[in-house]
Amino acid sequence: LALALLLLASLSFWAWRARRVQRVLRQLAEIDGLTGISNRRHFSVQASALLVDCAKAGGSACMIMFDLDHFKYINDHYGHATGDWVLRQVADVCKPLVGRNDCFGRIGGEEFAVVLSGGGVEAGRELALQMRQRITAIDARANGGSFNISASFGVTTTRMSGFDLDRLMAHADEVLYASKHQGRNRVSVYQGAQPAAAPF
Ligand code: GH3
Ligand code: MG
Ligand code: MG
Repeated sequence: LALALLLLASLSFWAWRARRVQRVLRQLAEIDGLTGISNRRHFSVQASALLVDCAKAGGSACMIMFDLDHFKYINDHYGHATGDWVLRQVADVCKPLVGRNDCFGRIGGEEFAVVLSGGGVEAGRELALQMRQRITAIDARANGGSFNISASFGVTTTRMSGFDLDRLMAHADEVLYASKHQGRNRVSVYQGAQPAAAPF
């Protein structure tokens, strides 16, 4: 009986360890190590699944993308560690605004994306404005720096761009760059394809 109990205990221990290793491996594959939010691959998987569900249910969703402004300046003048601190702060201040049914990920160096489920364009714009405001409120002095932090946003909706993730991201990116060109630290909303310029 003692031997059987010992065997059972060892089997349980190995099963527990295997589960733990599996959990750690999954985290490493899905979570961005710097910010603790989804990495690009996991964001794409989650967002695609959310969009499929949304389309099936006849619902709507918004895509928000943002890119930090003049981030290279922060890295160049205050060092890479300060740049990393900024990235973590940005994720920390934005994360509480993202609901359980939404997706939030770091999709590139200083680029982030959100899929907001169930909302129309006003909900997407409002969330982007709140994130923009929170990002500008990050106080660099807390890390010994003296610089402004801001981000430029692009927003589109499934109503304008459909349910295909690549298309939603392309349209959000297009207006994100409009925000950059118009002076940064702002939110632009996709209004549909702009007519080509007249030849004369
Ligand atoms: P813009 O306002 O036009 O977006 O200018 P920018 O300086 O933000 O854009 P740019 O693409 O020139 O620079 C982005 C920088 O982000 C360059 C790269 O070294 C830095 N970067 C990318 N990933 C990381 C990271 O994980 N940590 C840090 N500290 N920097 C990163
Ligand atoms: Mg960028
Ligand atoms: Mg940038």
